[in-house]
Amino acid sequence: MRSQPMIILGEDSQRVQDKDAQEHNISAARAVAEAVRTTLGPKGMDKMLVDSMGDVTITNDGVTILKEMDIDNPTAEMIVEVAETQEDEAGDGTTTAVALAGELLKNAQELIEQEIHPTAIIRGFSMAADRAREEIDDIAESVDPEDTDVLQQVAETTMTGKGTEVNKEFLAELVVEAVRAVTVESEDGGNVVDLEYVNIETQTGRSAGESELLDGGVISKDPVQENMPTDVEDASVLLLNEPIEVEETDASAEISLSNPDQLQNFLDQEDSRLREKVDQIEDIGADVVFCQKGIDDLAQHILAKKGILAVRRTKQSDVGFLSEVLDASVVSDLDSASSEDLGQGSVRRDEGDELFYVEGASEESHGVTLLIRGSTDHVVDELERGITDALDVVSQTASDGRVLAGGGAVEVELASRLRRYADSVEGREQLAVESFADAFELVPRVLAENAGLDPIDTLVDLRSAHDNGRGRAGLDVFSGDIEDTFEAGVVEPAHAKGQAISSAAESANLVLKIDDIIAAGDLSTEGDDEGGAPGGGMGGMGGMGGMGGMT
Ligand code: ADP
Ligand code: MG
Repeated sequence: MRSQPMIILGEDSQRVQDKDAQEHNISAARAVAEAVRTTLGPKGMDKMLVDSMGDVTITNDGVTILKEMDIDNPTAEMIVEVAETQEDEAGDGTTTAVALAGELLKNAQELIEQEIHPTAIIRGFSMAADRAREEIDDIAESVDPEDTDVLQQVAETTMTGKGTEVNKEFLAELVVEAVRAVTVESEDGGNVVDLEYVNIETQTGRSAGESELLDGGVISKDPVQENMPTDVEDASVLLLNEPIEVEETDASAEISLSNPDQLQNFLDQEDSRLREKVDQIEDIGADVVFCQKGIDDLAQHILAKKGILAVRRTKQSDVGFLSEVLDASVVSDLDSASSEDLGQGSVRRDEGDELFYVEGASEESHGVTLLIRGSTDHVVDELERGITDALDVVSQTASDGRVLAGGGAVEVELASRLRRYADSVEGREQLAVESFADAFELVPRVLAENAGLDPIDTLVDLRSAHDNGRGRAGLDVFSGDIEDTFEAGVVEPAHAKGQAISSAAESANLVLKIDDIIAAGDLSTEGDDEGGAPGGGMGGMGGMGGMGGMT
């Protein structure tokens, strides 16, 4: 019956349609989810990623893993975006979001095999996601945003498993203090947290337990000359975004000199221009200069003689932060600078760490610095990721005040509520809503699995606890017990969970909507040969193929 198909594609291009297209995409997306699930929870394992330059990252953080992996598959990249959105919107919960998206797609595939049309699945998933978010509003516990105990628990829950084990309590305290230092009451009586005013500085060499929360900023630079003062109380600080150098003559400019006097003259002029600049600095009353640009040798010398502390090539972000700390302007033209541009405060030098501590004295000064210490770069980097996540979730809790019981408790509760909701849903969408409910149970299953516990037993116990009205029953991965995780202090912010559900559902739907893949080149890369997912070709991740076999 069919007429001859018209060929409109180039010779090398490939086309996959309908079920094959869905299968192809789902496999690729699932391969990504599989790659991060072993890191979920406090007992999750870390991954070591080596980039093409040989640089090593060791992490447990979902979004970091996916960003560092050299993923070369368009569908897989869509799942990576889930993690990135989650990171931007919530700061934590990236592994959960990606694992959930993978599980949704796995369940969708089963429905497709039962001849349920993707559009019905997509509709059902959207209904389920909306409902789940409503249920979260109902399940969430409202806590006093000023309650530091809860904030501390939220911080600890986020940081567990991120290299913070030994010093978890202490580091969580620092995070809570940092957030509280930058929390202000808004006009409507709520709290506003401005994390811009929390600066993170890392130092290798000492232990994490020696990390500190400091008022003000720190600058990891040396003075330009050794004979400058290093500790200045009641300092007037100039932040300068202009070099203290004579302007470079244009590369093409030519100066013709006919006798040695002229040369001397020219050099003298340069010197006097430099002296003038230093005089300007002195005249407006600065005794400390943090310069973003370079400082000429002669200028350094004169500054030292005048007893002015000068630092060159200060990072732009540090200068920006110091302007908040000191309530100072950043001066970009000395000629128009005045004493009003200066900031007041104190500057202290720590010779051992080669750091300047800068504290503001004005009423208007803002800003604290979390100085994170750790023995090696890898340790410090992972600590920093954990602490950044914790800052985000603690600030959400401090402004929003809604939290949930972790350890899979909220997921099991959502699954059970969605199943009840499914009964009221007509048509094939009902099956999709049920699939969505099932997908939530991935979280407690994987938490158990990663802790070396039996996932099936755990799930059965959790389900029966929730059926008996214990809505906050979750898994304590350390004891293996089912308990009220909220009481046990495993607490997550509601905002992050809601976001994880939305982004997982949206990306799953995006993948499901595709029924036609037209590629200009070859679709199936090496993933095929390794028995992995069809087309799950992950450039640079030779091991990915083997992961397709997991369920
Ligand atoms: P994500 O990237 O999704 O934040 P994590 O590896 O940080 O992934 O793991 C988060 C999960 O670990 C959450 O479901 C949280 O409730 C759970 N969790 C954290 N601490 C505990 C604990 N002590 N016991 C059980 N589960 C925990
Ligand atoms: Mg986390």
